[in-house]
Amino acid sequence: MNIGVLGAGQLGRMLALAGYPLANRFTFLDTTGHPSAGIGDVMVDTDRRHLAAFLEKVDLVTYEFEHLPVSLVQEIEEVKPVYPSSEAIRVCQNRAEEKALFDRLSIPTPAYRLVESADELEAAARELGTPVVAKSVTEGYDGKGQAVLRDPAEAAEAWRAIAHPRLIVESFVDFVREVSIIAVRGRDGEVVFYPMAENQHVDGILRYSIAPLPDLADSLQQTADGYIRALLDELDYVGVLTLELFQCADGSLLANEMAPRVHNSGHWTQDGAVTSQFENHLRAIQGLPLGDTAARMPTCMVNVIGREGDSSAILALEDAHLHRYDKSERAGRKLAHVNLLAPTHEALLERVRACAALLPEAPAPSFSFE
Ligand code: AMP
Repeated sequence: MNIGVLGAGQLGRMLALAGYPLANRFTFLDTTGHPSAGIGDVMVDTDRRHLAAFLEKVDLVTYEFEHLPVSLVQEIEEVKPVYPSSEAIRVCQNRAEEKALFDRLSIPTPAYRLVESADELEAAARELGTPVVAKSVTEGYDGKGQAVLRDPAEAAEAWRAIAHPRLIVESFVDFVREVSIIAVRGRDGEVVFYPMAENQHVDGILRYSIAPLPDLADSLQQTADGYIRALLDELDYVGVLTLELFQCADGSLLANEMAPRVHNSGHWTQDGAVTSQFENHLRAIQGLPLGDTAARMPTCMVNVIGREGDSSAILALEDAHLHRYDKSERAGRKLAHVNLLAPTHEALLERVRACAALLPEAPAPSFSFE
């Protein structure tokens, strides 16, 4: 099976690494001109001239990046199976579509408004009550294209800074923690769920994910499972889907956003779960049985961003697994991650702190259950 992947970054690289034991081959189509997968057959196609050659080579198509023209994915669907479908991409690349789907499926979200001018932004901030978060409806990721307004009077400045014709404005959630749920749906409709992870972001970028959580009520995991199952079934989805949520003080979960792909908050599954998110995505899209999603042990994923740190010292930590992306160092760039495992959460937190001390740019780890 030759799997075509749209996008050629580290997620594609890790999909390929998980697919080689299944005798999969990989052909990447990079439309950015900056592929970094460093594995498989990478076709750089910045002007859509190599699509036919790409499709010729592959048996089915998936993606590791959702900010693709929907028309391109629809064109591919005419020729080869695409999992997940172009409909999943269409919804997930637009925050307004995403929120409308959450509303339709009764998945709670922060209160929000859609605005198309600085005046509308100011009115929405007044109506919702500050603070609010304004986000561009499309093209935003890792906290880019966003601004927090502490006062409606900041609307003009935020509008200029984001510089986008359509924004979504949300109430700022006073969350206890940020969590994510990752689930996989097979071609036959079978669904499996990973234990939820707690995610620590700094400046909108994920820094740490820890799973399973020592203090998560079963009922809350079931609530999240229900939300993501509704999304998977509604979209007739095949593959891995990620839903990011805020957990509030009253125990409720509010959906923030979803990603139609393997996700950074699921990297812990490479070493910490019986079957990784990458292998399960490949199983799903090929119509193979899905693998066990149970956690082997408390696990924490530490992102390595900007600078690599001392790899030898990291590898000397007990039960530490370094996954490097073979990229050059640059401020804010995701270069690698470390998965740390330990028999207890207490021991795990010690290892996480030891690991963070070896990474020059790592913020102090802090988890809600400490
Ligand atoms: P997003 O790109 O929507 O995932 O936003 C990036 C990060 O900004 C999130 O992971 C949160 O840390 C923060 N954030 C986004 N929306 C809100 C919100 N409505 N309330 C509080 N924090 C938010």
